[in-house]
Amino acid sequence: VIALGQPEHSVITTCAYCGVGCGFKAEMKGSQIVRMVPWKDGRANEGHACIKGRFAWGYATHKDRITAPMIRERITDPWRTVSWDEALRFAASRLKDIQATYGRTAVGGITSSRCTNEETYLVQKLVRAALGTNNVDTCARVCHSPTGYGLGQTFGTSAGTQTFKSVESTDVVLVIGANPTDAHPVFGSRLKRRLRGGKTAGGQPRAGLIVIDPRRIDLVESPHIRADHHLQLRPGTNVAVLTALAHVVVTEGRVNEDFVVQRCDEKSFADWRAFVARPENSPEAFEAVTGVPAAEVRAAARLFAQGPNSAIYYGLGVTEHAQGSTAVIAIANLAMACGMIGREGVGVNPLRGQNNVQGSCDMGSFPHELPGYRHISDTTVRSQFDAAWGVTLDPEPGLRIPNMFDAALAGRFKGLYCQGEDIVQSDPDTHHVAAALQALDCLIVQDIFLNETARYAHVLLPGSSFLEKDGTFTNAERRISRVRQVMPPLAGLADWQVTAKLSEALGYPMDYASPEEIMAEIAALTPSFAGVSYAKIERLGSVQWPCNDSTDEAGTALMHQGRFVRGRGRFFNTQYVASDEKITPRFPLLLTTGRTLTQYNVGAQTRRTDNSQWFEEDLLDMHPHDAQERGIADGDRVSLASRAGETVLRARVTERMAPGVVWTTFHFPESAANVITTDSADWATSCPEYKVTAVQVARVMAP
Ligand code: SF4
Repeated sequence: VIALGQPEHSVITTCAYCGVGCGFKAEMKGSQIVRMVPWKDGRANEGHACIKGRFAWGYATHKDRITAPMIRERITDPWRTVSWDEALRFAASRLKDIQATYGRTAVGGITSSRCTNEETYLVQKLVRAALGTNNVDTCARVCHSPTGYGLGQTFGTSAGTQTFKSVESTDVVLVIGANPTDAHPVFGSRLKRRLRGGKTAGGQPRAGLIVIDPRRIDLVESPHIRADHHLQLRPGTNVAVLTALAHVVVTEGRVNEDFVVQRCDEKSFADWRAFVARPENSPEAFEAVTGVPAAEVRAAARLFAQGPNSAIYYGLGVTEHAQGSTAVIAIANLAMACGMIGREGVGVNPLRGQNNVQGSCDMGSFPHELPGYRHISDTTVRSQFDAAWGVTLDPEPGLRIPNMFDAALAGRFKGLYCQGEDIVQSDPDTHHVAAALQALDCLIVQDIFLNETARYAHVLLPGSSFLEKDGTFTNAERRISRVRQVMPPLAGLADWQVTAKLSEALGYPMDYASPEEIMAEIAALTPSFAGVSYAKIERLGSVQWPCNDSTDEAGTALMHQGRFVRGRGRFFNTQYVASDEKITPRFPLLLTTGRTLTQYNVGAQTRRTDNSQWFEEDLLDMHPHDAQERGIADGDRVSLASRAGETVLRARVTERMAPGVVWTTFHFPESAANVITTDSADWATSCPEYKVTAVQVARVMAP
């Protein structure tokens, strides 16, 4: 700032890190950014920002950026820099050759939750219309796909029910499997204001707080904040704890009978009530499994049911389990039974990890769903897309990401177009992923850096950072905000243009003049987006889907008022099933994973900024008792091994962990945390069970 002096003009855009979706003003001098200032009119952040959004944007001009397309015949060959035309012709001809030899479904695509709605829409359109297959999936597969399934089944739509601001009207906050102060910091700050009470919460008394987490996260105890109940459960037992909470609600007569009678499906509720009331679902029966004292579960259930306004916030600590979808359903059951849906201050709120994970799901990135969560087998919906796109869509769902890997290893899947996702570093069981990618005849990677996945690529298409993008992101509140171009794409083409040109090279031209035209097509084909336009977003700042003729002009801030999207809310029994990842004499500890305040996911962006000075390597957190037993001191190098693989990192001895449980982040490729995670996955959605891995830890050398 000192070097560049005062800004001359500014561009309002949206942060490209987490699902809070903070608005920023990029203050510019000429073509250079002087600073990023949190936008005071941004509805999600109201002038607040965190250390990532405010300071960690320099990666956009980092020397590692790829600025020209590259191709190679074999992955052992050196890269050859070529023109856009040559790269796109090479990619298209490889994909077409594969389809000619192995069939239409031998190829597919992966969309990115880092890209805009418009870019994501185009990738799934290319796969479906230009390649003629539904083999399209999104990186949401490995994070919030169970949210899509669980909330879709119970409420009728796959999205959070509230705005972030709603927490200001909440009396009791239940946080499960989420660490908002690190992973969603601006919402975390809003939450802390409510938990402190007094002046910062508009004179309200502080809200009650229940934290369900294997770690003592900051919310459990930090200056001026103390959880009323910390249910420090063993990894993999969310469903047991949630079912036990429901048991208390039902057996102690704490059900909101009026709400259930008026709003919910009678039969499913009766079945569920009988199920959770069984003695084997009591807190006492589950105590040995979860490690949580029954009295603590009972007290937490009473606090939640008492409200009057209780809200649930959850994250990947719920979804990334073999029972991830069951746990999401259990959360929805609990909220419905206590009548905590459909007004300010209550609700079920998935804290979305990535900036546009909500949008990538909304835009039809799943192999079984077209934009707006309409099933591909629906003839009426398909015929609308057939007419608009001039094709005949395949009615059969395509392959999910893990199925693509399995099919590749079986020789049935040969070509993949992967936009903005480092699947080698971020997907579980790295050795398995790498072997699958090596079996491909054509891997097209579109990214801003030469990432780990690019090691196995034949075509590298330079991607554009959020500062080079024009389009929209959708945050965890279903809020659609504009992303505005601050500087031109370094490689000359924006991501949407690259996809459109690749489609043209495949013989299916896409004729758009701008992302605004793409959004107009999305709105015309997607009822929940029918009222969305750039002109409206310009005027109102943002809109929230559903946004159409039956909603307010700005869309829907609060979902499920009066009735659920599916009509009546539906209960499902949530039978607890122990994870396959069990401790054994060889692997006596359970590993769970998460992220930190200053770094972000696989670290591709934050590692290339000054944020790295605050967190320079992935660490393994372990309890002093476990460390002492193994002769490990704080800072020692330790080996971490599971049935999938082994890595080495530095130990951090801390009482944040319970004995028997260790924790690490996955920000650095050097520590390769996903070498350790296994192929265990959610029964409904194939979301990997990142949060439970049986491991052994041993000291390898002094620091
Ligand atoms: Fe960006 Fe999330 Fe931080 Fe907001 S809270 S500035 S969206 S990383």
